[in-house]
Amino acid sequence: MTYIVALIGGIGSGKTTISNLFEKIGIKIIDADIITRNVLKNDKNVINEILNKFGPKCLNIDKTINRKYLKNYIFSHNLEKSWLEKILHPIIIKRMKEDLNIVKTPWCLWVVPLLIEMKLYKYANRILLIDTPVSEQIKRITKRDKIDKIQAKLIISSQVTREERFLFANDIINNTKTIKILKMHAKNLNEHYLKLS
Ligand code: ATP
Repeated sequence: MTYIVALIGGIGSGKTTISNLFEKIGIKIIDADIITRNVLKNDKNVINEILNKFGPKCLNIDKTINRKYLKNYIFSHNLEKSWLEKILHPIIIKRMKEDLNIVKTPWCLWVVPLLIEMKLYKYANRILLIDTPVSEQIKRITKRDKIDKIQAKLIISSQVTREERFLFANDIINNTKTIKILKMHAKNLNEHYLKLS
């Protein structure tokens, strides 16, 4: 069984950036967001349930689920958010477990932004947090997602707090420096996790 390192971090903290760097040095990545996208694209039962609940507005022209619409809608509709999570989470967890079970490398990176919210810590051998101060998160996501500061702050305040993440983390990357420094972190952590695996 592979040694599972769960990667957590708030929006725009650098999860994709660091996981791309790990991937470049040969680490197997299991990404919860990619699995979610696949479920929403390919699972006919899920697509039909969502269509029945939200109506044709939730579909793109090609009949796939419009994730942006759904994401925005559930952001301000708590009941629908819980409903969607009840449908999606068990399937996503099942798929993630299947993917984690067949990894052959000594350790793998499991990118799972909602690890704390979904109480998935039991599946991880270790939790790696990528951390960025809120002010920097705001700067990065307003630039990347073309949203204003108010929207950015709203999204950040809907997530678990930085402090809560610190409580769960075994290892912490402070992502306030350059990408070159992130590369060094990836290299050092790889050596660390190879020893632990
Ligand atoms: P999300 O939670 O939305 O999936 P994320 O945690 O995956 O976000 P990234 O997409 O990796 O975050 O990073 C957010 C933005 O910040 C990106 O545009 C990325 O290029 C930039 N970024 C990340 N780390 C750094 C850094 N050390 N220096 C400069 N820019 C950075």
